[in-house]
Amino acid sequence: MDGAVTRRVGLDVGGTNIKRVVLEDEIVVDRESEPTRSEDGPAAVLDRLVALAREADAAEVGVAFPGLFDAEGRGLLFPNLDGDWKGRPIREPLSRGLGLPVALVNDGHAFALAEARVGAAGGAPNVICIVCGTGIGGGLVVGGRLHLGVDDRAGEVGHHTVVLDGPPCNCGNHGCLELYAGSRAIARAAGRPSFDATVAAARTGDDQAVAAITRAGELIGVAIANLTIFVAPERVVVGGGVAEAGELLFDPLRAELQRRAANVAPLEHIELVRATLGPDAGAIGAALFAAG
Ligand SMILES: [Zn+2]
Repeated sequence: MDGAVTRRVGLDVGGTNIKRVVLEDEIVVDRESEPTRSEDGPAAVLDRLVALAREADAAEVGVAFPGLFDAEGRGLLFPNLDGDWKGRPIREPLSRGLGLPVALVNDGHAFALAEARVGAAGGAPNVICIVCGTGIGGGLVVGGRLHLGVDDRAGEVGHHTVVLDGPPCNCGNHGCLELYAGSRAIARAAGRPSFDATVAAARTGDDQAVAAITRAGELIGVAIANLTIFVAPERVVVGGGVAEAGELLFDPLRAELQRRAANVAPLEHIELVRATLGPDAGAIGAALFAAG
């Protein structure tokens, strides 16, 4: 029927919660969250996803996971979920349970698609998105389309080298961005129990906390300078829990971007913005990804 809206559901499986949004075309009409309880095992999590998607009564289903899949929709690496996901079919049981095709997407890619299309980038055609939480991920939208890369592996910006002789990372490299600008890394450098405690201390002027957040901002700025010189996007979006530090993070980040890229990239036409969709970005992106 002409003019009918398409109802889509997006699910975002996090280490703590599964988020669900329902979109009618590109408008969020419903949002829901429930505990992931990955300690119950992969089969229970997959059943929970089927139940959540079925309730939404949608024609298209997308699911974002914090990790990597193979081409057949089996799990490869889900470091933040309990249980043995490696080699486990994911797309097939979801699709069978729902009687619908299911699109799987990495959560960093889902975040990027959502923020680029309906969030902070406002539909700009070329967008770099970085999401800084415990880990750091991201995605690139080029010409309005999400760039997945070979084996869908593009966007691992957390493993971008920012310090040549830095400490070893569990990816096998040294001096990766995540070692300095992930939320736990910042708290550790600040000598605080959590990222939130670090931000609170920095706001009262604690030197060690300010230094840790400043260093993270500078190094995210280095990564963005490198990416921006190469891609020349209209917008760069930074989100995730670390962005909650606000100007404590963004002031050194912008300064570093200017210092390293101003004479090469057209920074006067490149806007650096904070993500706007909040914790629902991954689920929104999963629903948009299902739409193709
Ligand atoms: Zn690494």
